[in-house]
Amino acid sequence: MHLSLTAALPDLSLIPLPFIYVVAGVFGAIIGSFLNVVIHRLPREESIVLPSSRCPSCGAVIAFYDNIPVLSYLLIAGRCRSCKTHISARYPAVEALTAFIFVVVAWHDGPTLALPFDLVFVAAIIALVFIDAEHMILPNAITYPGIGFALIARVTLPYLLGSHISMTWKHF
Ligand SMILES: [Zn+2]
Repeated sequence: MHLSLTAALPDLSLIPLPFIYVVAGVFGAIIGSFLNVVIHRLPREESIVLPSSRCPSCGAVIAFYDNIPVLSYLLIAGRCRSCKTHISARYPAVEALTAFIFVVVAWHDGPTLALPFDLVFVAAIIALVFIDAEHMILPNAITYPGIGFALIARVTLPYLLGSHISMTWKHF
């Protein structure tokens, strides 16, 4: 008996692909913005939830309209509105990179259940790469859950995708 979870979900293949890529890109930019917070605060052992985004130099709270991925950086010409200190180009770079990689992963996976798993994986890798580059550490807060996540994904994904059928039943 094969009770696939995919059968219970709406047919994702009906969604036009360009729409999926645009959504993946915008979603990636937003996740990239969150990854910037993780990359900056996690190695400094600060909360990644509170307080809201501040200028690393003068501490001025960054308004929501100045927190739009990539676009805000261009609009304020890479400088804090309050103190005019130059803001690292890493911020828009991480946002643009995450958006790009999310589109590539969406293109590679298509509208399948593998997609959310792979997006979580690449997001974690992006955070690790940039934290490692600056601090030469890979925080346990990312790697330990990552190990658990990889094990769960490895066991469950073939079932979610239905690919275990061809691997096991073909031989009988
Ligand atoms: Zn400032």
